[in-house]
Amino acid sequence: MEEEIFACQQCGYCCQGETTVSLTDDDLQRMVDYIGLPEKEVKEKYLRITGNVIQMKIVDRHCIFFDKGCTVHPGKPWRCSQWPLHPSILQDRSNFEAISSSCPGIKTDMGYEKFCAILSALISTKEDK
Ligand code: SF4
Ligand code: SF4
Repeated sequence: MEEEIFACQQCGYCCQGETTVSLTDDDLQRMVDYIGLPEKEVKEKYLRITGNVIQMKIVDRHCIFFDKGCTVHPGKPWRCSQWPLHPSILQDRSNFEAISSSCPGIKTDMGYEKFCAILSALISTKEDK
């Protein structure tokens, strides 16, 4: 169903910038488990810690885990997992327009109403799991 409304173009726009999303405690644990190194080493090699805020390091203006796509897909933070099919799209057309203008993987041809019908069904399916 997802492929009806989204196909990632691996452009990397969502993984670039001066900062990344912040990791929750669960995100950190999932990432440590996925990478398979001690937490201390994961923090030193890959993370940027400022007070209580844990983010991923930036290398060449991209998240350290970006290399023609996300290299830690199963271990990535939940905020990364929500992108670009974010539930806020359902609440407001302007969110759809903002997100689709930042992400070339969003399929806009079908129009906002049809897109929302599919996204809504997709989110319900995920919630049922
Ligand atoms: S911006 Fe969209 S198309 Fe580009 S890498 Fe991110 S999810 Fe994929
Ligand atoms: S963890 Fe993966 S999806 Fe999230 S910003 Fe880094 S490369 Fe992108």
